Amino acid sequence: AALIRSVLIKKVAHQLGRCYSSSVPTTKLFIDGKFVESSTSEWLDIHNPATNEVVGRVPKATQEEMLAAVDSCSRAFHSWSETSILSRQQIFLRYQQLIKDNIKELAKMITLEQGKTLADAEGDVFRGLQVVEHACSITSLMLGETLPSITKDMDTYTYRLPIGVCAGIAPFNFPAMIPLWMFPIGMVCGNTYLMKPSERVPGCTMLLGKMLQDAGAPDGTLNIIHGQHAAVNFICDHPAIKAISFVGSNSAGEYIYERGSKNGKRVQSNMGAKNHGVVMPDANKENTINQLVGAAFGAAGQRCMALSTAIFVGESRNWLPELVERSRSLRVNAGDQPGADVGPLISPQAKERVECLIQSGVEEGAKVLLDGRNVKVKGYENGNFVGPTILSKVMPNMTCYKEEIFGPVLVVLEADSLDEAISIINQNPYGNGTAIFTTNGATARKYTHEVDVGQIGVNVPIPVPLPMFSFTGSRGSFRGDTNFYGKQGIQFYTQIKTVTSQWKAEDATVTSPAVTMPT
Ligand code: NAD
Repeated sequence: AALIRSVLIKKVAHQLGRCYSSSVPTTKLFIDGKFVESSTSEWLDIHNPATNEVVGRVPKATQEEMLAAVDSCSRAFHSWSETSILSRQQIFLRYQQLIKDNIKELAKMITLEQGKTLADAEGDVFRGLQVVEHACSITSLMLGETLPSITKDMDTYTYRLPIGVCAGIAPFNFPAMIPLWMFPIGMVCGNTYLMKPSERVPGCTMLLGKMLQDAGAPDGTLNIIHGQHAAVNFICDHPAIKAISFVGSNSAGEYIYERGSKNGKRVQSNMGAKNHGVVMPDANKENTINQLVGAAFGAAGQRCMALSTAIFVGESRNWLPELVERSRSLRVNAGDQPGADVGPLISPQAKERVECLIQSGVEEGAKVLLDGRNVKVKGYENGNFVGPTILSKVMPNMTCYKEEIFGPVLVVLEADSLDEAISIINQNPYGNGTAIFTTNGATARKYTHEVDVGQIGVNVPIPVPLPMFSFTGSRGSFRGDTNFYGKQGIQFYTQIKTVTSQWKAEDATVTSPAVTMPT
């Protein structure tokens, strides 16, 4: 395994021109069409979460490097926004094919830096690829509107136009999908793009940047910088940047929303979650248990749409022992090992935090039905593993219910009725996703109408909408007014110009000034 990893790092590093002068490869910046070594003195280590070995280093870009990146975006904007929409479409048609051809390579990079299983990493790429495929429909998506003859000889029509330099700030948990929600949609609309991937998983964005260059994106249309707070502040403050797409935690998201908005930028900010799965007694038991286990523990619970909370209504609480047995059967292992179901958490700090939240549940009166702390993974003793954990008898005032755990922990509540379940969910501050499991259409309809959550699954555990729709998390899970991808994504990355024109026949020329407001 170590040999495969080292070959992979070298292969990928070679593709990106990473430097081998130090013992671990360094991640380059992508500025003005070139992969360049940062001159910074501040570097962060990138770890393989299954072993905690250092597999690379990422720079905190200097102020000069960030300025060079945004200047490159600004210079490229004029010609890119004037490039015909058919030419931009062709680049993204080639891009989607390159991503398809390299899914396995991208997935290996994700597993190396992020830890999720290879199969799940391929899903991560695939869901991002779907957004790129959708971006290829830009010739329809960017159509404006027209209304002929609004008065005699007068027509009105609108253009949807790019807004300038846009920027994306991404989290660690979907190294392919979330950056692909950002720059492809922004760029296909004619904007140029400054991307800042998560400093913990930069490799996948670098590969995606290289592929976009190979697909024909001109120099400067995409620039990639690295870093943490200074890079984020730079993006929030630089006057050339007109819009920011952020995905990540609430603390960062609220901060970026405020600082970016204050500087006059559009900001869309997708943030944390606490997603509830409601289990009705009439649900298909086998289906429901499998869906719940997969959605709670897949990706080690590090998904913003993970079903991290179950509410068993009425008699369905009797299914708990089977839920526990099914969860116990999941195999915890390094993501690149055959048969692995649950990989490691991103860092030792994340593991410690998750274990503390489990302990807080115990101390506040929850019952541990399955305990994934102290799980041992042979050959990966230094990895950040926590096994599937189930806490029952959880109450809404407990810390393990109030906090987003972001680990393989399912907290279980009970309710006597659907109304009670809906009331619990509507009092929770988050509104990212939820699911109901039932065979009764009227129950499902009542739920979808009364629950105040932006994305709802009916017998679908992780209802992340396909890209022809938008990602519509709500309440505490979102700041902004225009969502990611779909029609709303195009709206976010464009501005509208409205033209009203009058072409009169010569004999109808206006003969005296009209000083009243035209009606
Ligand atoms: P994070 O907020 O720690 O990091 C996200 C980005 O913000 C990174 O690029 C990071 O460099 C930057 N950042 C981090 N802290 C910052 C700060 N204090 N000030 C300014 N910038 C900061 O998030 P993460 O741990 O990488 O990702 C996990 C979180 O993302 C979870 O809360 C999860 O629910 C959320 N998430 C939400 C969605 C969604 O669509 N709603 C999708 C995926 C992940």
